[in-house]
Amino acid sequence: MDLPKCPQCNEDYTYKDGHLFVCPMCSYEWTEAAQAASEEAAITRDCNGNVLENGDAVSVIRDLKLGSSDTIKRGTRVRNIRILDEKVDGHDILAKVDPFGQVYLKSHLLKK
Ligand SMILES: [Zn+2]
Repeated sequence: MDLPKCPQCNEDYTYKDGHLFVCPMCSYEWTEAAQAASEEAAITRDCNGNVLENGDAVSVIRDLKLGSSDTIKRGTRVRNIRILDEKVDGHDILAKVDPFGQVYLKSHLLKK
């Protein structure tokens, strides 16, 4: 298993001390459970709990309003999604949806 980066200072010198991860750069210590929880939180999943990754193709599980007049219909196929590192207004996916162009989407309204 690769050792994770330090969540505090983001340095790469983590070592393990029993069940703890330790960062020698800033002396931060965290548990395996905390590490597992943060990795789990970083995973993006669709409405069925399947893991989504960059480049995946998904379909929309319900009509999504875009502004006042446009709607992405339920069942619309969306290819080549991009997972956002930082959520934008609650949206965690960016993808090109014809004919609307780049659209922000929410992973729990998508199905792989
Ligand atoms: Zn550190």
